[in-house]
Amino acid sequence: MIDLMRSFGFNLNETQILQFQKYFAMLITENEKYNLTAITEERDVYVKHFLDSLLLLSTVTDLEDKSMIDIGTGAGFPSLPLKILVPSLKVTGLDSLNKRIGFLEMLSQNLGFTQTKFVHGRAEDFGQNKLYRESYDYAVSRAVAELRLLLELVMPFVKVGGTFYAYKSLKTKTELDDAKNAMTLMKSSLIEIRSYDLPFDMGTRDILIIEKMGKIDKKYPRKPGVPKKSPL
Ligand code: SAM
Repeated sequence: MIDLMRSFGFNLNETQILQFQKYFAMLITENEKYNLTAITEERDVYVKHFLDSLLLLSTVTDLEDKSMIDIGTGAGFPSLPLKILVPSLKVTGLDSLNKRIGFLEMLSQNLGFTQTKFVHGRAEDFGQNKLYRESYDYAVSRAVAELRLLLELVMPFVKVGGTFYAYKSLKTKTELDDAKNAMTLMKSSLIEIRSYDLPFDMGTRDILIIEKMGKIDKKYPRKPGVPKKSPL
């Protein structure tokens, strides 16, 4: 598996190799208890979780010492593979399922991470919290919601001038068409779309680079459940 990572240009050191091995082992051993992932074959985990998460590094090279929030992080994707590659990245993982937060804390301790924080809660609530609102250089999110809904959940966390990297696939164009109003209200601008093919025909990945151009009206995000019920 490590050769596979190398073939994608990720030259891992000993510590990083061990961290990915431990990450895989913990995902599998704790999966039943924490309900973490449907993907369990080793090669699939390395491609669909680890490599997929790391694709961002082909696009962004200045993650050192930056702050990043991962909305709906689940078992840590995409932020924790990025943390392995860039140890100085300050990661906050937010998820509404407390079980998963418990797993992430245990994982983080086992992998020896510093400057990571895992928060149990809904993006709609934490986006209104002064300690979190407009506090992050970067936000990431994968497999959480369609784009117009996601923008309301994620953009309040991003500093003005900061960037949201939305991991999308399959319906990118339709989601973008539907998200025009949300883009305007969330003071967001699509800068670029980067597309990648995963190996072994395991699908494609689009990373949408979305910049925050100005402050968002305080009424966003709306209360939990409202963004989903009536997306912008
Ligand atoms: N990002 C991970 C990945 O790609 O493997 C997990 C994806 S999982 C399908 C979606 C996650 O988003 C779940 O863990 C769920 O609890 C979380 N989630 C959904 N809506 C949320 C919200 N409004 N606020 C916080 N977390 C949310």
